[in-house]
Amino acid sequence: MSLLQWARIKSPWICHFNTGGCNACDIELVAALTPRFDVERFGILLKGSPRHADILVVTGPVTLQTEARLRRVYDQMAEPRFVMVVGVCGCSGSVYHGCYSVKGGIDRVIPVDVYVGGCPPRPSEIIDGVVQILNKIARGDQAADSTAA
Ligand code: SF4
Repeated sequence: MSLLQWARIKSPWICHFNTGGCNACDIELVAALTPRFDVERFGILLKGSPRHADILVVTGPVTLQTEARLRRVYDQMAEPRFVMVVGVCGCSGSVYHGCYSVKGGIDRVIPVDVYVGGCPPRPSEIIDGVVQILNKIARGDQAADSTAA
């Protein structure tokens, strides 16, 4: 394992973006980040800027209003960048699928590495999603955007 891989696994910084969900997924994400579940003990920190983040955590279906913003946030991240979708809305569009103002799941706009289902998923499932990305980094797997196209 390279020094860079080791450093990424020890301090995976995340950035959160809601593309139009109902906020319940966001509440569960906040629960995962705050002292009860305390992911900070694993070095997982919430960052305000995508420029500082390794993992983009996205909640909600992509609305037409947020589509370009999601792409812009993603483009600001340094490579290798990973994307984790939290909640079935972001996985597939869910109940909003086919709605006039909704594009669909997150992978209609940007490549996705890990899908965490549930409506909303529990904090333990969100933490499991981050661990799946850390395992990808440890194995030396490419991020989804490297393998796309
Ligand atoms: S998956 Fe459920 S909880 Fe999450 S944004 Fe969609 S409707 Fe809300």
